[in-house]
Amino acid sequence: MVMDVLQLDVSGRPQAWMTAKEAATLYASDAVAWTLGEAFHVMRGGVQRSTGLQSRIELHPIVAVRGCVPSRAWRTTPAITNPKLFTRDRFVCAYCGQRHAFEELTREHIVPVSRGGHDSWMNCITACRGCNGHKGNRMPGEAHMSLMYLPYVPSLHEDMILRGRRIVADQMEFLLASVPRTSRLHG
Ligand SMILES: [Zn+2]
Repeated sequence: MVMDVLQLDVSGRPQAWMTAKEAATLYASDAVAWTLGEAFHVMRGGVQRSTGLQSRIELHPIVAVRGCVPSRAWRTTPAITNPKLFTRDRFVCAYCGQRHAFEELTREHIVPVSRGGHDSWMNCITACRGCNGHKGNRMPGEAHMSLMYLPYVPSLHEDMILRGRRIVADQMEFLLASVPRTSRLHG
């Protein structure tokens, strides 16, 4: 089973990605409030003694969980990681505009950390090794380099997309509906 399930709280806010196995546990403990999307897998369990019926769990790609406490994540900015940063920027270097493989990319601080720049979504951009090395410890203007696109802070729905490894159409549609039109993920 290769799919991850998108976990929501009952109000529909994304909470986490979980494995199909973790989702099955929630179904079995009657913790699923509602689901979205076509069932993608049916799990069969033991035969119930009282009814003689075999238990059967249909797994859906999106699952709202009863009693799920809204995550603290909703009050904070999503954490920045290189895989998420490169995905936000579509693996394109902000200085030369070329698309690169993951190994060729770096997290570039627009205002260098040594000069007070923060390690934040608004001060970080994707750059290839060549451009990052050329810019070095300078401001873009000092290095006569300009940004071909601008940084932004991903929304929390967008962050779920950046974090997802194998997102199916139903999940993408649900998450993108809450992602601002200005996001590069719509491109
Ligand atoms: Zn470059």
